[in-house]
Amino acid sequence: MLIFRQMFDTTSSTYTYLLADNRTREAVLIDPVFEQVRRDGALIEELGLKLLYTLDTHVHADHVTGAWMMKQRLGSCIGVSAASGSAGADRLLNPGEKVAFGDHHVEVRATPGHTHGCVTYVLGDKSRAFTGDCLLIRGSGRTDFQQGSARTMFHSVREQIFTLPEECLLFPAHDYRGLTVTSVAEEKRFNPRLGGTICENDFVGYMTNLNLPHPKQIDIAVPANLKCGAPEEGHMPPKDPDWAQLTLSTAGTWEMQPTWLAEHRAAAHVIDVREPAEFTGELGHIKGAKLVPLGQLAARVGELPKDRPLVTVCRAGGRSAQATVILQKAGFERVANLTGGMLRWNQEKLPVEGRNT
Ligand code: FE
Repeated sequence: MLIFRQMFDTTSSTYTYLLADNRTREAVLIDPVFEQVRRDGALIEELGLKLLYTLDTHVHADHVTGAWMMKQRLGSCIGVSAASGSAGADRLLNPGEKVAFGDHHVEVRATPGHTHGCVTYVLGDKSRAFTGDCLLIRGSGRTDFQQGSARTMFHSVREQIFTLPEECLLFPAHDYRGLTVTSVAEEKRFNPRLGGTICENDFVGYMTNLNLPHPKQIDIAVPANLKCGAPEEGHMPPKDPDWAQLTLSTAGTWEMQPTWLAEHRAAAHVIDVREPAEFTGELGHIKGAKLVPLGQLAARVGELPKDRPLVTVCRAGGRSAQATVILQKAGFERVANLTGGMLRWNQEKLPVEGRNT
């Protein structure tokens, strides 16, 4: 079975796609975004996947790829098309080549026109295709910079994408109106630039009169993407917290395992955000914990110590996750949530006090 996830970057309106094999847990990630590598990495780890490859559809002009960064974090290989001219990839892909993950694979189809190195990745059973900035939903990528050519794009779409099965689902690299997926049949019929009875000269006429603004990010994004997203000195992304062993959840909180806290109790102050009756109830509390119920936390942040990082705890780890959000908003930078709360702490038979039994 295929595991499939579509992620969105709101800044650049980019879609990133995670495809994985349910049995072997091997995965590929299409068009990752540099600023979203932490999010995508968290999802990959939560789902228990092994990322084999990041695959870019082309050298993007509107965002920096997360390929290099993901390789640093998860050890994935970088795959880009040989025609892209990118340096630093582990695998340069040519048309017809397959990238396997478990029992699945994607096949590379050359779909130049937006750039000369653009490719579409087609899932082995042709049920899904990832069209990058070639065919968009009821639109197309622009053809007015980076070796773009409307004539080339017209042939790419008609010969490489519209020849896929009618029911094949098409997933673009971007959408600016909130649409997420289309199909070959739909675009053949309704794409105003490339569908129906539109001919090559109609498309060229359409594309040469778009008068689009210069992309804001192009002068940064293209040079970085030609190196698969490796940053310049001095432009490194924010480091992960190093004061404790933490993992980032896809929900966006830094999580601490109970055994780590028990073994490094002096590393942080514990803020218990339950109600007073719970603090002295059947689950007890962690020695030295300060009780500040969640509903009072925002108003009482002034009472909290600043000399060490803060770890929040509640019954099951939900309210305390919200507490980390409140604390970060209040300016506390080193904050983590105790995973599983006092329930997990008790299950793991870690020391408690104040238990009212
Ligand atoms: Fe693009």
